[in-house]
Amino acid sequence: MRICPPLFGCLEPSCMCLCFFSLIQDLLGTTMNSTVLPPGTFWGQYQDITRFNTHLSVAERLWVAWYAWVQNDVLATGIMSFVIHELFYFGRSLPWIFIDSLSFFKRYKIQSSKVPSLLEQWDCAKFVLLSHFTVELPQIWLFHPTAQFCGLSTSIPFPSPWTMIYQIAIFFVMEDTWHYSFHRALHWGPLYKAIHKIHHQYSAPFGLAAEYASPIEVMILGFGTVSCPILWCAFTGNLHILTMYIWIVLRLFQAIDAHSGYEFPCSLHHFLPFWAGADHHDLHHEKFIGNYSSSFRWWDYLLDTEYTPDALKRRRGKKVKAKKTEDTMI
Ligand SMILES: [Zn+2]
Ligand SMILES: [Zn+2]
Repeated sequence: MRICPPLFGCLEPSCMCLCFFSLIQDLLGTTMNSTVLPPGTFWGQYQDITRFNTHLSVAERLWVAWYAWVQNDVLATGIMSFVIHELFYFGRSLPWIFIDSLSFFKRYKIQSSKVPSLLEQWDCAKFVLLSHFTVELPQIWLFHPTAQFCGLSTSIPFPSPWTMIYQIAIFFVMEDTWHYSFHRALHWGPLYKAIHKIHHQYSAPFGLAAEYASPIEVMILGFGTVSCPILWCAFTGNLHILTMYIWIVLRLFQAIDAHSGYEFPCSLHHFLPFWAGADHHDLHHEKFIGNYSSSFRWWDYLLDTEYTPDALKRRRGKKVKAKKTEDTMI
């Protein structure tokens, strides 16, 4: 196929890039077919798209320009997924590293005698990076074909903010259930020794330790993060890959913050009592028992695996009551 340089508005009859309208149709179509665009710079693509698509938002133009520039949808989705993961994982961990280095914040540290050293955090970061490159990268490569097979949309326009918000809220609830079940199972003796023990190396966790885990654990618990939206899409046929990215980023933030080791007066669970947060997960690392959920407190409460001062008091009260009833029956 011969593609002429001034792609849009080409009038040469022999030109195989057809006309501007068919190109725009391709760009806005359900599949992000990027092969009709000529090779060029990313910003060149962005400018061309902007010139003829003023109705699109900046984010949508960047999105289309990215797929058009890479000219390989599997590669475009793979690179984007990996970069988003690295950028947001380490980006979100940085403020916690900084906070750990300042004595002012020690008053908010849950286990104040166990502030991680920079060397400890560096060793953890190396381990996590190795896991990202050897375990997660090959799987991320399969993401685009899997997403397409399951009907996830990669086209524009993007879904409305409301659609993204309600879908992400559902994913949080679904993933929390998955995480509770499999995390609890990983605390069963043989599985703990073989798989989960690595994650519990740090009894006083810190942000970077969120993904410090055995590759098998990363796959088991990570499967919940990815499969919940895919399952939703299989049933409803309504999910955009951008919603999936925002969900993964928010889930990363949740995991890193839960491992931060800090409890502030403004921490989210003070406003949303059912939100788990650092206070909930820190105790799990300290005591190696209870508090198995990721985002919410309800499963631990309902299945009596909560490990908080209140829950312990409640449990003690129940035991005393049971003993009294037993004694009166005798
Ligand atoms: Zn655990
Ligand atoms: Zn943990």
